[in-house]
Amino acid sequence: MKKKVLALLMASVMMFGLAACGGGNGDAATEGDQAATEANGDLPTVGVLIYKYDDTYISTVRNSLQTALEGKAIVEMQDGKGDQATQNDQLDVMISKGVDVLCVNMVDAKAASGVVEKASAAGIPTIFFNREPDTDVIKSYEKACFIGTNAIDAGKMQGDIIKDLMDAHPEYDLNQDGKVQYVMFQGEPDNPEAIARTQYSVEQAEANGLQMEQVGETQVCNWDTETAQKAMEAMLAANQGKIEMVIANNDGMAIGCVAALSNINYNTGAEGASFIPVIGVDATDAAKDAISKGQMSATVLQDGDAMGKAIAAAAMNAASGAGFLDGTEYTYDDTGVAVRIPYAPYTGQ
Ligand code: CA
Repeated sequence: MKKKVLALLMASVMMFGLAACGGGNGDAATEGDQAATEANGDLPTVGVLIYKYDDTYISTVRNSLQTALEGKAIVEMQDGKGDQATQNDQLDVMISKGVDVLCVNMVDAKAASGVVEKASAAGIPTIFFNREPDTDVIKSYEKACFIGTNAIDAGKMQGDIIKDLMDAHPEYDLNQDGKVQYVMFQGEPDNPEAIARTQYSVEQAEANGLQMEQVGETQVCNWDTETAQKAMEAMLAANQGKIEMVIANNDGMAIGCVAALSNINYNTGAEGASFIPVIGVDATDAAKDAISKGQMSATVLQDGDAMGKAIAAAAMNAASGAGFLDGTEYTYDDTGVAVRIPYAPYTGQ
């Protein structure tokens, strides 16, 4: 009896010993693997496609995104250079590399269905940002969402600023006809954000009781400073003295208009210099500087830093398999798939 117990005991000690030994080897191997993967980054890879690096506001967003993901993810970022075909190629490369999450700033928001098709086939969660695809396209993929602003709000805020300016400065009505003769600078002809800003800035000013009268045709300047400057120079040459307000879809173009005005000694910021109010959107450093120097009236703050942080939070969640907004301060709007980062007016005061 005692011998049997001893034998059993010895057998179990031996088995335990073997098991322990095997376990030890296994743990060591696993630890080694972990160390190796950590060394080359046991972090999720976030693929970021930017419509073009050469855009001041988007630069703020991508810097903020990169900072927010530092040490938490490997960021693969590509410059679409304003060309959708280029961006499509970059998307293919990212998918073949097997990124864990895609963050896409579409060159052409209308091409988003193609992105959804490829991303969903590969099962990669996709966060569209800034340039908004159709809601139906986002909804067609359960692992897609949008982070941006509400285009209408930026336009409306410009309309409110116009009302405040005209109330504070009756002298801006140069011909004293009770109407605001304005010129409009639009980002792109078909960009929904641009269209909304153009439309709602004027509609909101009218809703605020102003009479708005457009001078010349809407100047489509692709968000670009130099293009806007040239267009404004031509507008001034054709309509000098008839323009009372400059409304631009972004600060890039607003700054171009300020440059054109400065060339004819308007908006120089000097005491007593002739001045036509110029309003932009984005609150870029250049615009804030122009506002502080008295060369520009106001802009609408699109908080690129806040947007970058929101994209980073959603990307980290998606990479871990959680819902985009799980445990964050963000909520979807009534579409159920879009997060709106709020705007704020900026007048330098
Ligand atoms: Ca007038």
